[in-house]
Amino acid sequence: MDETIIELKKADLTLGQGASAVHVLKSLDLSIAKGSSNGITGPSGSGKSTLLMVLAGLERLDGGEIRIAGTPLHDADEDSLAAFRGRNIGIVFQSFHLIPNMTALENVAVPLELAGNRDAFAIAEKELRAVGLGERLSHYPGQLSGGEQQRVAIARALAPQPKLLIADEPTGNLDAETGKHIADLLFAQQADRGMTLLLVTHDPSLAARCGRQIQIRSGQIIDAGL
Ligand code: ADP
Ligand code: MG
Repeated sequence: MDETIIELKKADLTLGQGASAVHVLKSLDLSIAKGSSNGITGPSGSGKSTLLMVLAGLERLDGGEIRIAGTPLHDADEDSLAAFRGRNIGIVFQSFHLIPNMTALENVAVPLELAGNRDAFAIAEKELRAVGLGERLSHYPGQLSGGEQQRVAIARALAPQPKLLIADEPTGNLDAETGKHIADLLFAQQADRGMTLLLVTHDPSLAARCGRQIQIRSGQIIDAGL
């Protein structure tokens, strides 16, 4: 049996208040094997991003259970949740989320430094080289192409050596060719590092490159891909 890295049991989450409240995750069960690559697809508004936020420890469940790498997160306090996230989980977004007035090197190094890593700049340089940006260390995000900005974001996500890499539409803002290169990079890094990859995408051909395809509809898994 494969080792399980993510376990969600009867996960429930409502976002918003009063009239704008939306029951987003509805008694959702999901279990993910360590080291696997998983493509999550589903209609807009079905809860994909919310699911990733829960897995990243950025949204807390209203009910049910979540365990990542054996650690129960449903009853963890904010501080231990943040510490757990920093050590175990890397996140990549569609819109890169780089800090515009920091260089590529600083975007990767500063979070490491804030986490207390004394070798932050050396590690950041190594990670930027690993994503093919060794010649762009001093560039600001505005001086980089979309694909290059996403490479910086990937280097930043990988720098703490996470067990789990979460990517929400990582190629959604890129042209097809650049998107393919970014996907190639994600899969290569996943294989090299033995990480678990969870990727949300609208692109069926990208989802098909994952070992397992999971479909979500209105807050529930309708095809677990097993
Ligand atoms: P997806 O990523 O699959 O497009 P999301 O997880 O972003 O879907 O959103 C799922 C549903 O939850 C949508 O209907 C969205 O409008 C709603 N939603 C997301 N965030 C909030 C919020 N903060 N307050 C109220 N509703 C929200
Ligand atoms: Mg989304």
